[in-house]
Amino acid sequence: MNPPAVSGTDVPHLHWRDALQQDYTLAVITLGGVVAALWLAPFAVWRALQGNWIAMANDAILTVVLGGAAIYAWRTRQTRVPGWIMAVCVVGGIWAIGVSAQFAALFWVYPGVLMLFFLVPPLAAITLGVTAVAGAAALSWQELGGTEGLPFFVITNVLTGVLGFMVSQQAHRRIGRWQALSLLDPLTGVGNRRLMEVECAQAFGGARSAGALAVLDLDHFKSINDHHGHDVGDAVLRDVAAVMSAVLRKTDRLYRLGGEEFVLWLAPGEAEAAAAVLERLRQMVRQRVRAGDTPVTFSAGLATHQPGESWQACLARADAALYRAKRAGRDRVCLADPSDPPPRQ
Ligand code: GH3
Ligand code: MG
Ligand code: MG
Repeated sequence: MNPPAVSGTDVPHLHWRDALQQDYTLAVITLGGVVAALWLAPFAVWRALQGNWIAMANDAILTVVLGGAAIYAWRTRQTRVPGWIMAVCVVGGIWAIGVSAQFAALFWVYPGVLMLFFLVPPLAAITLGVTAVAGAAALSWQELGGTEGLPFFVITNVLTGVLGFMVSQQAHRRIGRWQALSLLDPLTGVGNRRLMEVECAQAFGGARSAGALAVLDLDHFKSINDHHGHDVGDAVLRDVAAVMSAVLRKTDRLYRLGGEEFVLWLAPGEAEAAAAVLERLRQMVRQRVRAGDTPVTFSAGLATHQPGESWQACLARADAALYRAKRAGRDRVCLADPSDPPPRQ
């Protein structure tokens, strides 16, 4: 199965304080927005009062773009595009300050270079950082102290960049580990209920069908535990997840809902294809997974997503079909139809 498709920066619905703590790109974009509102906007007014229209236009444009990027990031909880916009603004702003107010660019380079590493990937941050440093040095050459000041300016900026790189990379790795722990099921390694909720919320509910959802429940699992012990039960769960992951297509997603229940999200395609995939899974699990000498089987309900239907409603129909599969004798797949009644509570 694929690794989680959501990034830490894409996990929606976090409380704003948690989002700021867990998503460093969002935090830095917010900082950029705050600087725009509290510093650049008043400066734009002051420049206008002075009649310095170029500097006014520069500050006003930066205020609108930085503020807009921050608002967009908060509304969508997506930080990739706003991160790039802000990174380009940082460099453009430093150049513009160099043109309109010369020496001030030298001071803005340091926070700017640091911020870049939290906004875009390292290679882009290095390229943009070099551009910012070169622009500030060239445009404020006199104030820099010419060739005498240049080495100090460069080395202190390199140190700032290295610091930004180190801290952002550590944060990045920590977020990756946190995601793996919070979105994957520790026993089987497939996605957990939380990942299913996040991914389905993103993909379902639109005007087009998002594919099909299946609920799978192992048959008589309690008696496997009772006869062979809990450890064998755990091994069966791991084997079932491994066999299914090996059979599934790259676009399919498997989650463990809890206990001996799995959810399968099959990417859009023919309804027949989804049923065939499930039937193949059923046979593979039956052939390859054993508890002692006994083949392990599952029952499943499969619901094709109707355009506009919520993922919860689609899952409920699959669950109702699973119930029918159990009642009909287990070890089988039942198809839901669009008018299936609401499921059991
Ligand atoms: P049915 O065919 O109707 O689904 O019967 P069943 O025995 O599979 O269903 P039931 O809900 O009665 O039992 C599920 C069992 O799964 C009960 C619980 O002890 C066991 N279980 C839940 N989580 C785990 C787990 O993580 N590991 C193991 N080994 N057992 C678990
Ligand atoms: Mg169950
Ligand atoms: Mg069961």
